[in-house]
Amino acid sequence: MTPPAATDELPVAVIGAGPVGLAAAAHLRDRGLPFVVLEAGPAVGASVRGWGHVRTFTPWQYLVDPTAERLLAATGWQRPTTPVPPTGAELVEHYLEPLAHAVGGVRLGARVTAVTRDGYDKARTVGRAERPLVLRVTERGTGGGERTTELRARAVVDASGTWTRPNPLGASGLPVPGEREAAAHMVGALPDVAAQRERFAGRRTLVVGAGHSAANTLLALAELAGSAPGTELVWAIRGSDPSRVYGGGDADELAARGALGTRLRALVESGGLRLVTGFAATEVEPDGDGTVAVVGTAHGRPERLGGLHAIAVATGFRPDLDVLSEVRLDLDPGLEAPRRLAPLVDPAFHSCGTVPPHGHRDLEQPEPGLYVVGMKSYGRAPTFLVTTGNEQVRSVVAALAGDLAAADDVQLVLPESGVCSTDAQGRDAGAGGCCGAPGAVEVPAEAHRPRPDGVPAQGFATGVAGGGAVGALTLVAARSGTDGGCGTGGCCTS
Ligand SMILES: Cc1cc2nc3c(=O)[nH]c(=O)nc-3n(C[C@H](O)[C@H](O)[C@H](O)COP(=O)(O)OP(=O)(O)OC[C@H]3O[C@@H](n4cnc5c(N)ncnc54)[C@H](O)[C@@H]3O)c2cc1C
Repeated sequence: MTPPAATDELPVAVIGAGPVGLAAAAHLRDRGLPFVVLEAGPAVGASVRGWGHVRTFTPWQYLVDPTAERLLAATGWQRPTTPVPPTGAELVEHYLEPLAHAVGGVRLGARVTAVTRDGYDKARTVGRAERPLVLRVTERGTGGGERTTELRARAVVDASGTWTRPNPLGASGLPVPGEREAAAHMVGALPDVAAQRERFAGRRTLVVGAGHSAANTLLALAELAGSAPGTELVWAIRGSDPSRVYGGGDADELAARGALGTRLRALVESGGLRLVTGFAATEVEPDGDGTVAVVGTAHGRPERLGGLHAIAVATGFRPDLDVLSEVRLDLDPGLEAPRRLAPLVDPAFHSCGTVPPHGHRDLEQPEPGLYVVGMKSYGRAPTFLVTTGNEQVRSVVAALAGDLAAADDVQLVLPESGVCSTDAQGRDAGAGGCCGAPGAVEVPAEAHRPRPDGVPAQGFATGVAGGGAVGALTLVAARSGTDGGCGTGGCCTS
């Protein structure tokens, strides 16, 4: 939907200076459209810094947006040539910081608390599209307190990610009784174990979740245990088989991820941790000596994981929709992703390897000029990759510039395998659902997208038009929970 001409002189407001928000800024700069990037953190890439100690699986060329690279090249910047994927911290230092400097227009410490329409509440329709969008922004005031201002914009590109909204421990999606009270024991999905050695050394930590976030944390704890006697690891997963987390090992084209899975498998097989499968938490309770216990069931039988000093809940993330509560949204009721996009990213039918190319038409909201992009656009689905986000914002900005031909020409090209989760034989787990829980379901027609008119776009991993081997995908796929059961910031990636 093209925003109304009456607001054309206003800037496009981008929420969030993560990889995708900054890529959006690069495209806006390239197209000569005025913009401002509002970043809640004190520095760009605030969420990526939160997992800065974690190595990504994606080589540099799939993280760096091509237009951003072109703008950066003019400053003498060169994309790192190492085949080793960067850590989060390296991504910030070598890409996001120089990019923010090159594109300008980033307001740090500027938290968007609400988006609305100038003078129009959500219920009012007539003349709505002619009014500017308004962002309410909270920043630190000069006296040390907070200052709230409003910013008018012709369009809003929400690239605020999901990192700040981790899923709770409770399998039902709600915190279990006692979970909030145990906040002092909660260490997040991906604690920096090496940097907080004293918190974990000689102590017992429970890691909950079956994704790469959990794997990273378990391996960091195991390394610590090697030099800190008494360090104990308990790993609880909802499913009955951890092998999906092990991935493709040597068969994984992304060596870092293959190695992660291989090391985790070795750790489990060596007895270096206690693995509890089929686990569902029902309560957290004090357990004496300053420890807590997570009480629940394992395969339906009572289970009590006691004596815990720390709990790492790696059960996934969800989007912050509060900030968008006064604008008109059309989201999938389950995944909380834009309705058109949801079936294309649903972990029940896709890994990131089979997510088809998609663009502005899939991301726009009924609120004219509002787009949800990046990690947040996938809602609760864990299948997001930065490459997808780069293509999303290229399409959205082209649409904002009125270049619908470019906006509609969505393309994604990635290696034909190894970008996503792979099973022990090195097959893309996407063919069987991201998380591979048992139970076969039909893949609905809207979950894949053939390219019209023979447009030679390629989708992730499959290398075939439209992003998926349509024939294969229309057969059956193994169903998993919509949180993927992966419990990560990306089933494929974290
Ligand atoms: C541990 C981990 C590893 C990953 N590895 C990979 C990988 O190897 N390859 C890959 O392609 N993807 C990977 N991902 C998935 C995903 O690509 C990253 O999470 C990526 O950072 C998402 O980019 P984004 O710009 O959409 O959001 P984010 O990076 O989360 O950035 C959002 C920004 O918005 C800001 N913000 C939030 N709320 C507000 C607000 N209200 N107002 C203003 N600013 C706000 C935040 O401070 C943040 O800076 C990984 C994710 C995790 C968690």
